[in-house]
Amino acid sequence: MDTVSCTFNCGEDESVAHLFFACTYSSYVWRKVLSFCDIFRSLLPWLDEIQWMVDHSRGKALPQKLRKLPFGATTYHIWLERNRRCFQNTFLPHEAIIRKIQVDVAAKVSTIAQEGHGEREHNLCINWGINTC
Ligand SMILES: [Zn+2]
Repeated sequence: MDTVSCTFNCGEDESVAHLFFACTYSSYVWRKVLSFCDIFRSLLPWLDEIQWMVDHSRGKALPQKLRKLPFGATTYHIWLERNRRCFQNTFLPHEAIIRKIQVDVAAKVSTIAQEGHGEREHNLCINWGINTC
Protein backbone atom coordinates (compact mmCIF):
# COMPACT_ATOMS: atom_id res chain seq x y z
CA MET A 1 0.00 0.00 0.00
CA ASP A 2 1.21 3.45 -0.81
CA THR A 3 1.81 5.78 2.04
CA VAL A 4 1.97 9.53 1.84
CA SER A 5 4.55 11.34 3.89
CA CYS A 6 3.49 13.90 6.40
CA THR A 7 3.16 17.39 4.93
CA PHE A 8 4.91 18.80 7.98
CA ASN A 9 8.11 17.15 6.83
CA CYS A 10 8.72 15.23 10.01
CA GLY A 11 9.63 12.10 8.05
CA GLU A 12 6.66 10.04 9.24
CA ASP A 13 3.75 8.72 7.18
CA GLU A 14 0.61 10.78 7.20
CA SER A 15 -2.53 9.56 8.94
CA VAL A 16 -5.23 11.15 11.03
CA ALA A 17 -3.68 9.72 14.19
CA HIS A 18 -0.31 11.11 13.16
CA LEU A 19 -1.67 14.53 12.29
CA PHE A 20 -3.53 14.78 15.62
CA PHE A 21 -1.15 15.02 17.51
CA ALA A 22 1.72 12.62 17.06
CA CYS A 23 3.44 14.86 14.52
CA THR A 24 6.13 17.10 15.99
CA TYR A 25 4.41 20.16 14.48
CA SER A 26 0.91 19.47 15.76
CA SER A 27 2.05 18.09 19.12
CA TYR A 28 3.91 21.34 19.75
CA VAL A 29 0.77 23.33 18.95
CA TRP A 30 -1.51 21.10 21.02
CA ARG A 31 0.81 21.10 24.03
CA LYS A 32 0.88 24.88 23.91
CA VAL A 33 -2.92 25.09 23.60
CA LEU A 34 -3.33 22.73 26.57
CA SER A 35 -1.03 24.95 28.60
CA PHE A 36 -3.37 27.91 27.88
CA CYS A 37 -6.10 25.69 29.36
CA ASP A 38 -3.88 25.16 32.44
CA ILE A 39 -3.64 21.50 31.50
CA PHE A 40 -0.24 19.95 31.86
CA ARG A 41 -0.25 16.26 30.93
CA SER A 42 1.34 14.07 28.31
CA LEU A 43 -0.37 13.90 24.96
CA LEU A 44 -2.56 10.90 24.24
CA PRO A 45 -3.22 8.94 21.04
CA TRP A 46 -5.88 10.64 18.90
CA LEU A 47 -8.90 8.56 19.96
CA ASP A 48 -7.91 8.92 23.61
CA GLU A 49 -7.58 12.70 23.17
CA ILE A 50 -11.14 12.77 21.85
CA GLN A 51 -12.34 10.64 24.77
CA TRP A 52 -10.46 12.84 27.23
CA MET A 53 -12.18 15.89 25.79
CA VAL A 54 -15.60 14.25 25.96
CA ASP A 55 -14.98 13.39 29.61
CA HIS A 56 -13.48 16.76 30.58
CA SER A 57 -15.50 19.33 28.69
CA ARG A 58 -19.04 18.59 29.80
CA GLY A 59 -21.21 21.46 30.91
CA LYS A 60 -21.22 25.16 30.27
CA ALA A 61 -18.75 26.42 32.87
CA LEU A 62 -15.90 28.52 31.50
CA PRO A 63 -13.04 26.02 32.10
CA GLN A 64 -14.99 23.36 30.21
CA LYS A 65 -15.87 25.79 27.45
CA LEU A 66 -12.19 26.69 27.27
CA ARG A 67 -11.37 23.08 26.49
CA LYS A 68 -14.04 22.35 23.93
CA LEU A 69 -13.44 25.49 21.88
CA PRO A 70 -9.63 25.23 21.78
CA PHE A 71 -9.85 21.55 20.83
CA GLY A 72 -12.10 22.39 17.89
CA ALA A 73 -10.02 25.40 16.88
CA THR A 74 -6.77 23.41 17.07
CA THR A 75 -7.96 20.55 14.87
CA TYR A 76 -9.44 23.10 12.44
CA HIS A 77 -6.28 25.19 12.15
CA ILE A 78 -3.94 22.21 11.89
CA TRP A 79 -6.12 20.81 9.13
CA LEU A 80 -6.09 24.17 7.31
CA GLU A 81 -2.33 24.38 7.66
CA ARG A 82 -1.97 20.84 6.33
CA ASN A 83 -4.04 21.80 3.27
CA ARG A 84 -2.13 25.04 2.83
CA ARG A 85 1.09 23.03 2.68
CA CYS A 86 -0.42 20.39 0.38
CA PHE A 87 -2.18 22.60 -2.09
CA GLN A 88 -0.69 26.08 -1.88
CA ASN A 89 2.83 25.25 -0.84
CA THR A 90 2.82 27.98 1.77
CA PHE A 91 3.86 27.48 5.38
CA LEU A 92 2.95 29.07 8.65
CA PRO A 93 5.15 28.65 11.70
CA HIS A 94 3.78 27.12 14.94
CA GLU A 95 3.41 30.47 16.58
CA ALA A 96 1.15 31.80 13.81
CA ILE A 97 -1.18 28.82 14.15
CA ILE A 98 -1.25 29.12 17.92
CA ARG A 99 -2.10 32.80 17.56
CA LYS A 100 -4.98 32.00 15.18
CA ILE A 101 -6.35 29.45 17.64
CA GLN A 102 -6.09 31.97 20.46
CA VAL A 103 -7.86 34.70 18.45
CA ASP A 104 -10.67 32.32 17.41
CA VAL A 105 -11.26 31.09 20.94
CA ALA A 106 -11.10 34.57 22.48
CA ALA A 107 -13.56 35.90 19.88
CA LYS A 108 -16.07 33.16 20.73
CA VAL A 109 -15.69 33.43 24.47
CA SER A 110 -15.59 37.20 24.91
CA THR A 111 -19.25 37.46 24.01
CA ILE A 112 -20.47 34.73 26.34
CA ALA A 113 -18.23 34.79 29.41
CA GLN A 114 -19.85 37.41 31.56
CA GLU A 115 -20.87 35.40 34.61
CA GLY A 116 -19.04 35.63 37.92
CA HIS A 117 -15.51 34.30 37.85
CA GLY A 118 -13.01 33.15 40.39
CA GLU A 119 -9.25 33.16 40.18
CA ARG A 120 -9.11 30.02 38.06
CA GLU A 121 -11.39 31.56 35.43
CA HIS A 122 -9.49 34.81 35.62
CA ASN A 123 -6.20 33.03 34.89
CA LEU A 124 -7.74 31.19 31.94
CA CYS A 125 -8.95 34.50 30.53
CA ILE A 126 -5.45 35.94 30.81
CA ASN A 127 -3.99 32.88 29.04
CA TRP A 128 -6.45 33.28 26.19
CA GLY A 129 -6.32 37.05 25.96
CA ILE A 130 -9.99 37.41 26.87
CA ASN A 131 -10.37 40.85 28.41
CA THR A 132 -14.04 40.97 29.29
CA CYS A 133 -13.62 38.67 32.30
ZN1 LIG B 1 4.33 14.78 10.82
